[in-house]
Amino acid sequence: MSQRNNDSAEASRWKKKFLDVLEDQDSREKSLTARIKLLRRGLVGVSLAGDGLDSQLDRELSALRTTLRSEDSEAGLEVLLEHIEKSVLRLDTRKEHSTWALRNALTLSVTQLQELKLDRDLKRSIKQFARTLPGRVDDIQNHAELIVEFLELVRMVVRQLSQSPDVPTEQPVPGLWKRLFSTTASQPAIVSNGAAEREAARAESVVGVPGIETPLRDAGTVTDDDIFSAVELDSAPHEDSSEPAAAAALENTSLPPEQDTPPTSEATPEPGFSAIANHAEPVLLRILENIYVSEQSVSLAQQIRAKVARGLNWYEFVSVLEDISSVITCSLGQERSEFQLFLNELNASLEQVQQYVRFARDQELEARASESELDQAVRGQVSDIAETVEKAADIDELKSAVQDQLDSILSSMDGFRHLKIQQSAAADEHTRTLEARIHEMERESRELRLHLVQQEQNAMRDALTELPNRAAYDRRVRHELEQQSHGAGLCLVICDVDHFKQINDTYGHLAGDKVLKILAKEISTRVRQSDFVARYGGEEFVILMTDTDLATAEPLINVVRQAVESCPFHFKEKQVQITMSFGVSALRTGETPDLLFDRADRALYKAKAGGRNRVCVADVPEESH
Ligand code: GH3
Ligand code: MG
Ligand code: MG
Repeated sequence: MSQRNNDSAEASRWKKKFLDVLEDQDSREKSLTARIKLLRRGLVGVSLAGDGLDSQLDRELSALRTTLRSEDSEAGLEVLLEHIEKSVLRLDTRKEHSTWALRNALTLSVTQLQELKLDRDLKRSIKQFARTLPGRVDDIQNHAELIVEFLELVRMVVRQLSQSPDVPTEQPVPGLWKRLFSTTASQPAIVSNGAAEREAARAESVVGVPGIETPLRDAGTVTDDDIFSAVELDSAPHEDSSEPAAAAALENTSLPPEQDTPPTSEATPEPGFSAIANHAEPVLLRILENIYVSEQSVSLAQQIRAKVARGLNWYEFVSVLEDISSVITCSLGQERSEFQLFLNELNASLEQVQQYVRFARDQELEARASESELDQAVRGQVSDIAETVEKAADIDELKSAVQDQLDSILSSMDGFRHLKIQQSAAADEHTRTLEARIHEMERESRELRLHLVQQEQNAMRDALTELPNRAAYDRRVRHELEQQSHGAGLCLVICDVDHFKQINDTYGHLAGDKVLKILAKEISTRVRQSDFVARYGGEEFVILMTDTDLATAEPLINVVRQAVESCPFHFKEKQVQITMSFGVSALRTGETPDLLFDRADRALYKAKAGGRNRVCVADVPEESH
């Protein structure tokens, strides 16, 4: 009886051990499945974040996601990861090449700028740029910023040189571009006449008159200290004989509407840029060829190219530099560099993941080997029991033999279990590391996305007026056109400041900038919430009016026109009236953004020709004022 009890205790001990092993095996499988899931999630996440940089890499990342989403994700994973690694390395080589080209181009051009005779401040800025260039150019993150800064310097140099009295006013300006960018440093240098200092002094004296509010403005709408509904354009430099007198400036701004050309144009005609276009064109075109242009900036880049090819005047040259900056900020901006950095990290992460896949596979093989070892051991011992049973002469011998065999089975199972515990601890440690890494990658991806959104918003904003810029308009108009399949109606308005060149010439560019800021605010507060206002470039703004037909748009724009007309800009004690002209077009079925713009532009031309300060509607003979 007691022998039977012993046997049954032995059997249940044996059974318990067996169940424990099964339980272990089950939990190990569960943890493996969880790890694979985690791995897939991490890989899908990082592959999404790396999208959009390179078409070949995009295809490979998309294939990686498809493979990961399929059940049998191990098949082909290794080959795919190898391809991705190659693509990332290829991008890295491309990056090195572009750094090299940019370093050469900027170093050469800045050396040439340094040879010019410019005022001290500007020279200092150029020197500062040249000094920091070598340290910054190696980091691709700085490229967009460097090019934009460089273009800004060129813009300031052009502005200063074109204001120099050495620049003949009646004839073309020979040699200016050569002095800017030719390799012959022997060109006669321009001696600074302090124009920039004077302009800065004039601009400083542009002050707001907080007490004067435009009667049309709603009370409390002005929140930005920097923006005034009234601005005083001071006449500080009017004693200087090279500046038009303040009174004359005032008279000029109140030209009769019929007069098409501002009188100051005669006094200081635009220098003939065409004479030096042969030098300017190749350099601008080379810049355009060498920068990366994103899909959304292609049309702007083409327009710049066409503009350059048609021939530029001084003012267009400045605005072309701004447009190129805008293409760069938009296309080659930090977004791209961030992605490249991210790709390097992705590469490192993929390597880690590959290591983990290898580790998991080795562990699996090891586990299979130890399982089959146990299986063989148990089978061998069971067959030994059978043999002992057959050969046993008496019951005691049999019992002790069976007991020995069972002990040996249990010790095999203990060994197996011990091994499993060790393996499982190692796997858990690995999983924890991997999990931490994947969480970190997910956090980095999230931060990067947020950062990119921020970058994109900056790239879409005009720094002076804080309105959306031309790139933002291009994107928005395409978006609105896509929505138009529902036939909602869309109007485009181009707004152009009347005789703005004269404002610049009379009060200086910085005062002109201030006027642009105020006008931007004025337009934005007058339009409806649903209207989209952008600074298209220079002194031109655009308004997109959704769900609006011409009959509705025209009176609304007339309200904006009147608000601008009544906005009290002040010069000393006297009021200066600034007006704007407007061209409006309504989208026709199947029309492209360019055609829509072209018709609004022609309407604007009509408004200018008709005397300015008016709204003209495209393809309608009458005009309103
Ligand atoms: P119109 O009535 O025919 O439009 O005459 P306008 O003088 O306004 O037109 P034009 O195209 O001859 O001159 C535009 C001027 O705008 C020339 C350019 O120097 C100036 N401009 C462009 N962008 C800026 C800017 O950002 N700031 C300043 N201050 N002036 C700018
Ligand atoms: Mg214009
Ligand atoms: Mg204008």
